[in-house]
Amino acid sequence: MITRKKTRQVQVGNVAVGGDAPVSIQSMTTTKTSDVDGTLAQIYALRGAGCDIVRCTCNEIEAAQGLAQIVPRSPLPIVADIHFQYKLALAAMEAGVSALRLNPGNIRKPEQIKIVASEAKDRGIPIRIGVNAGSLDPALYEKYGGPTPEALVESAMKELSYFQEVDFEDVKISVKASNVVLMVEAYRLLSETCDYPLHLGVTEAGPMPNGLIKSVAGIGTLLNEGIGDTIRFSLTADPIEEAKAGRTLLESLGLRERTGLDLIACPSCGRTEIDVIDVAARAQKVLEDKNIPLQIAIMGCVVNGPGEAREADLGIAAGRGKGHLFVKGHVVRVVPEDEMVDALLAEALAIMEEGIEARIAKAEAGAEEESNAVREELLQIQGSDANKSSEKIDKIETLVND
Ligand code: SF4
Repeated sequence: MITRKKTRQVQVGNVAVGGDAPVSIQSMTTTKTSDVDGTLAQIYALRGAGCDIVRCTCNEIEAAQGLAQIVPRSPLPIVADIHFQYKLALAAMEAGVSALRLNPGNIRKPEQIKIVASEAKDRGIPIRIGVNAGSLDPALYEKYGGPTPEALVESAMKELSYFQEVDFEDVKISVKASNVVLMVEAYRLLSETCDYPLHLGVTEAGPMPNGLIKSVAGIGTLLNEGIGDTIRFSLTADPIEEAKAGRTLLESLGLRERTGLDLIACPSCGRTEIDVIDVAARAQKVLEDKNIPLQIAIMGCVVNGPGEAREADLGIAAGRGKGHLFVKGHVVRVVPEDEMVDALLAEALAIMEEGIEARIAKAEAGAEEESNAVREELLQIQGSDANKSSEKIDKIETLVND
């Protein structure tokens, strides 16, 4: 058993990080954040691969506006990755993200850092101080003659001191480097220096298999010493591989339990047609003791559900009093709403018996067309902005451009 170092706890959406919370798995989307549907599909796929928290870049106003539409529909808490413009941090908070990541090497004006920290404090949003050896503050680079462990930790502590000036301590810290030995030494020093939750990662680890090996060497070494509260593998690969690798490492170290049935549910938003929590609870009850190693999605609407959860093996989405049963994003049957859970169980058992491709091939004639018609009908009734994101998008425009 690994004895973990006790750290403070912060709350990233519904995921606790630090303290006695399980070590969480993070990844980062590779889509443009302004591509709302593409980003959401990747977030759902990441959720299916065992990811707990997802980071999206917020590098331009269109990305912040995309976040305003992604956040209400995301099954995972979203962290906005902020680059050089502090106003984009304010915009991301306006969009409703659960946390920010700031790189002290990129936003260096103390007054701007304090504005962001004050706003985060008012909104109850944690910030990760994400120090990166490759973008270390030039003054610290010069002081230490390069990105040493001491330089990385001092960079984090300097940023923290600006936060503390405005009484903000809802913080996680990372001191990443692509050099594994440097990264391990920096985190050891950081862990001795403070008790904030630590986000572990070997930055720019590279493509498989080398990137994987470097990440396991760095992150695994630290976890085994009890250091680390949340992890991210930074691979030059599909982010799904990052989440799977993170999950496997945590399971192999006994830090997370192995999973069987993976029942996921959308968060509900302005388009929801059913009580998602109730349907998910009933589905969990009938499915949990059947030993079904599938990912099954309960989605609140047929407008976006089958697309958002297209990587799930099986799912059901609600629309106009019907349950639209889908396998890998293909609608295979439409059933009355009160038969949703029974239909889900029957289809799950059929998939176990016959396989996914066979069940897609046996889709009922006209099911896809019926779903498309309901989708169109709902779009007519609700319009294209059911979550009223346009108000936030306008506010973000003013915030960033003023
Ligand atoms: Fe996505 Fe529809 Fe659920 Fe809203 S109700 S989160 S759009 S599936």
